[in-house]
Amino acid sequence: MVEPFKKSVDGLYRIERWEKKSPGLTAGFTSKHGGSGSFNGLNMAFHVNDDPLAVQQNRMRMGDKMGIQVRQWVGCDQTHGTHIEQVSKEDGGRGALDYDSALTSTDGLYTNDQGILLTLCYADCVPLYFYDQSSKRIGSAHAGWKGSVGGIGSAMIEKWEKQGSRLEDIEVVIGPSICGDCYKVGKMVVDKAEKWYSDYEIKSFLPDSDEPDTFYFSLQNFNKDIFLKAGVLEENIYITRLCTSCSPDFFSYRRDGGHTGRMMSYIGWKE
Ligand SMILES: [Zn+2]
Repeated sequence: MVEPFKKSVDGLYRIERWEKKSPGLTAGFTSKHGGSGSFNGLNMAFHVNDDPLAVQQNRMRMGDKMGIQVRQWVGCDQTHGTHIEQVSKEDGGRGALDYDSALTSTDGLYTNDQGILLTLCYADCVPLYFYDQSSKRIGSAHAGWKGSVGGIGSAMIEKWEKQGSRLEDIEVVIGPSICGDCYKVGKMVVDKAEKWYSDYEIKSFLPDSDEPDTFYFSLQNFNKDIFLKAGVLEENIYITRLCTSCSPDFFSYRRDGGHTGRMMSYIGWKE
């Protein structure tokens, strides 16, 4: 499997495959390097008690590199739910330089418009990216274990199908997040995931031999299964090998003991 992300000289992890085949598209993930603020890095989130001015500066600096200025960004008040919003250019600026104007209780965004950047924040949860080249529809979703077992990946695919996207045209990328070797969960998560497996074959969970009722959970494999069940072609599903906990390039909620900054996923059409 080809690694969908390439670290560029400006420090961004870019989805090179999509940017190459579609001029005007900018898509990728930030690292923790190169910013200011209380987390000694490039924290992109307002809701983690960082200095808001530092976060604004971090965002403005990245806007230049991404090719879409921060006043055209859209951000969400993320709640680990499965609510998805279609946004348009008029939403540009919401949640971009403060948290209060962000879209409330939203974990997924999509658009066809140019001149708007869809942004979501993470520290271990999975960034999902969606692209339909024929309709120019783009989207992203924030999928921790709750969003993943809630099926936010397939919810996006269903919405796009209703609006005319053909399943065979939809490509998805499963982005940098905590890997199955680093992420342990309790039996409750397995129970909630079971509804997706009619044969009760829980492929994404590996029992921890040292701890009863504890499992290593591959959020990446799980989301791949969700996409396959939603009808996305296997050859159109790209999974990164980048783990936010294994790699020193990223903030990790688990590794850093809960007190840490956030990376940002982004996807947008430049004007
Ligand atoms: Zn890892």
